Amino acid sequence: MTIVVYPGTFDPITNGHLDIVRRAARLFDRIVIGVYEKSNKHLVFTTEERVELVRLAVASIPNVEVKSFSGLTVDFARKEKAPVMIRGLRMNADFEKEFEMAMMNRKLAPDLDLLCLMARQEYQFLSSSLLKEVARLGGNISDLVPEHVAEALRKKVHGTM
Ligand code: ADP
Repeated sequence: MTIVVYPGTFDPITNGHLDIVRRAARLFDRIVIGVYEKSNKHLVFTTEERVELVRLAVASIPNVEVKSFSGLTVDFARKEKAPVMIRGLRMNADFEKEFEMAMMNRKLAPDLDLLCLMARQEYQFLSSSLLKEVARLGGNISDLVPEHVAEALRKKVHGTM
């Protein structure tokens, strides 16, 4: 049985992330999505909220589990007994950052491999940060995130959550 971890901030989860999860779920036996536990003032959602939004988004995919974690991603992967870590790769935004992180992670955990799945064309320019900006300005984000995420974002930006 091959277990993989898919770590990220997911503030909030988008259809781009979800597409990576769905594709990984077809390739591997079990996916553990790791939501970074960080209290950063630039984040819109708390760790608990981010976990809950991811959980609802993946509820219909049977081999996916969602956990929060703190500390090194390589330690999280080790704890979950995952020999592989998944990341999504957009054309411009991600390559250098992922490469740098992969080199460091390889030093920290030589047995853990990284597998990057290319983001689908329609999600190449979709990021959680741009999404939040558009939501703040009242733009339509309905085809970029699951409905419950759009609703949670609307509530956040209008200060009612
Ligand atoms: P992090 O802070 O770890 O970059 P993110 O939540 O921004 O966390 O992203 C988690 C992972 O999902 C990263 O590998 C990122 O490159 C990938 N990702 C982000 N947006 C997209 C997208 N639109 N399509 C595919 N993968 C994406």
